[in-house]
Amino acid sequence: MQGTIEKVSGPLIVASGMADVQMYDVVRVSDKHLIGEVIELRGDRASIQVYEETGGIGPGEPVESTGAPLSVELGPGLIESIYDGIQRPLNKIREQMGDRITRGIEVESLDHSKKWDFKPVARVGDELVGGDVLGTVQESVTVLHKIMVPPHIKGALTWIYAGEATIVEPIAKLKTADGEVELPMMQRWPVRRGRPYKQKLPPNEPMLTGQRVIDTLFPVAKGGVAAIPGPFGSGKTVTQHQLAKWADADIIVYVGCGERGNEMTDVLMEFPELNDPRTGQSLMKRTVLIANTSDMPVAAREASIYTGITIAEYFRDMGYKVAVMADSTSRWAEALREMSGRLEEMPGEEGYPAYLSSRMAEFYERAGIVKTLGGDDREGAVSAIGAVSPPGGDISEPVSQATLRIVKVYWGLSSRLAYARHFPAIDWLQSYSLYTDRLMGWFREHVNPEWEDMLLETMKMLQDESELDEIVRLVGIDALSYKDRLTLEGARSIREDYLHQNSFHEVDTYTSPQKQYMMLKLILDYYNKGMAALNADAPFSKIVGLPVREEIGRIKYTPEADMEKRYEEVSNTLDAQMRALVEGSVEHA
Ligand code: ADP
Repeated sequence: MQGTIEKVSGPLIVASGMADVQMYDVVRVSDKHLIGEVIELRGDRASIQVYEETGGIGPGEPVESTGAPLSVELGPGLIESIYDGIQRPLNKIREQMGDRITRGIEVESLDHSKKWDFKPVARVGDELVGGDVLGTVQESVTVLHKIMVPPHIKGALTWIYAGEATIVEPIAKLKTADGEVELPMMQRWPVRRGRPYKQKLPPNEPMLTGQRVIDTLFPVAKGGVAAIPGPFGSGKTVTQHQLAKWADADIIVYVGCGERGNEMTDVLMEFPELNDPRTGQSLMKRTVLIANTSDMPVAAREASIYTGITIAEYFRDMGYKVAVMADSTSRWAEALREMSGRLEEMPGEEGYPAYLSSRMAEFYERAGIVKTLGGDDREGAVSAIGAVSPPGGDISEPVSQATLRIVKVYWGLSSRLAYARHFPAIDWLQSYSLYTDRLMGWFREHVNPEWEDMLLETMKMLQDESELDEIVRLVGIDALSYKDRLTLEGARSIREDYLHQNSFHEVDTYTSPQKQYMMLKLILDYYNKGMAALNADAPFSKIVGLPVREEIGRIKYTPEADMEKRYEEVSNTLDAQMRALVEGSVEHA
C-alpha cells in the first residue's frame, strides 16, 4: 500500500494515505527507498522517523509500507559484526560503497551466502518446542552458536540436515499443527518486542569484573542493570573497556551512540584491537558492535539500543551470559528529544519528552536472568550497563535522574578523583549497589564467610575518613586522637592499596575475588592489629611506619598463582612485626 509525503522536517516525515499501516511498521520513503519507521498515527496520517538523510526528499513523493515492524536478523554471522542502529553492516557497506553511506541501499544484515558447518543435535521424531536446540555452528573460536526453534513454533522433527549450509537454506523440518514448516538457521525478530522466556529468576550471582572497587563494594548481578555516569576525562572509556575485557560474560554487545567528534570512531578502532584475556584472541570474537557515528541521522540512534538488546536476548536464549553496554544513553535520549520536538509533542523537563523514563525502563527491563524457552532448562542472562554523560557532570539533569530511578547499581565516576589520578575514579561515597545484600550469600559461600563483616568494616572506615577529613580541614590533624589518625591511615590504605587499580598493569588489571579477599584481609588485619597495639601503648609513629605496610601495598602486583603463598608470608610478617612492636622490641626485630 502506498501513501504520499505531506511534509518533511529533518528526519521526520508526515505522510497521508496511510490508514492501513500499523505503529512501528517499516516503510520505504520516495523512489530512493529510504528506510523509515512509523512512530505516530493520526487518522490516515503517519509520522515516520527516517533512518537516513532526508535531503532532497519533498512532498508528493511516495511512501510504501513493508507491512512489518523493524526487525533484526538473528543467526550465525552476528559475532564480530559492526552494525549501525538498524543492523546494517558497516564494514560490508564500506567494502561495497566506500566511506560515505549511500542512501536507500539494500544490504543483508547477515551474510546470506556464507556457508556454515551445521551439526545437528535434535533427532528425527523429537517433539520440539520454541527454544529447543536443533543443532550448533562453531561461529568463532569462543562462540558456539546454538540454532534454536524460533519462539511460538512447535512440532515433531521430520528431517534434519548435517553439514555446510547458508543461514537461509532449510536445515530442519517440523510437522506442526498447521502443516510442515521448514526452518533455516536464521530467525527474524522485531526489535521493540522483548524475546520470550519461560521465567525470570532472581539475580543471585555476581557478574564479576575483576575490578576491585566494583566487585567488592558495588557488585552487579548477572542479569543486573547498572549505570556509569562519566564526566569527560573521568575514565569512562577505560572502565568500559575493562568491563568488556574482564566481565565474566560469554558475549558482549556494545552499543555506541557517539555524537561529537570522533567518540565512536575511537571505539570502532580500539575495540578490534583489544584482546580477550581468556583466549588471547581479539575481543571481537565474542562481541557484536553497534555503532552510530556522527554522520548518521538521530533516528537510527534511537533504534540502536533496541537492536542491541534484541541481539543480546537472542544469545541469552542459547543459555549464554551476555553483557550489553550502551554508551551513552544520554546521546540516545537526545535523539528521543529531537524526534519528540519535531512531532511537536508537549515537552517535559529540559525539552525531553514526558515518556523519557518509560522508554529507558523499556530498555533496562529487558535485562535479567531467565530460564529460557526450550525443554532443557537453560539459564541465560542479559546484564545491561548504561553510560550516562550528564552535561557538566551534573546528575540532577533528567537523563541521569531517570536512569537512577531504574538501575540498581550506580558507579559514579568523579572528576575530583580522576584529577587526583585515583583510578578507577568510582566515588565510593556516592556509588551504590542494591544487589549487595542479594549477592552476599554468594560471596560468603564462594569467597569467604567473613566477607560481609569485612565489607561493612571497609565501608565504615571510608565513611569515617570523610568525616575525619572534615575535622582535619577545620582544626588540623593534631586535634585528632591517635585512634582517629590510625583510622585515617587504614582508610588511606584501602584507597591506595586496594581501590586504586591500574588498568594498564599486566597483573593489577584483573583481580579474582579470592585475591580481593586476601588483599582486603591484610589491610583490615593491619588496621585492627594496629588498633590493638595502640591500646597496648605501642607508639603511633611506629605502627604507621611498620615495614610490612610496604609489602601490603605491593601485593596487588603478585600474580594470582603466587597469591596464596604470598598472602601467608605477608600475614606472618605482619603478625611478627606487630607483636614485636607491642613487646617494645621493634628495633631489634
Ligand atoms: P573518558 O572516557 O571519561 O573521557 P578515559 O576513559 O579516556 O576518560 O580516561 C582518561 C585517562 O584516564 C586515560 O587515558 C587514562 O590515562 C586514565 N585512566 C582512566 N581509568 C584508568 C584506570 N583504571 N587505570 C589507569 N588509568 C586510567
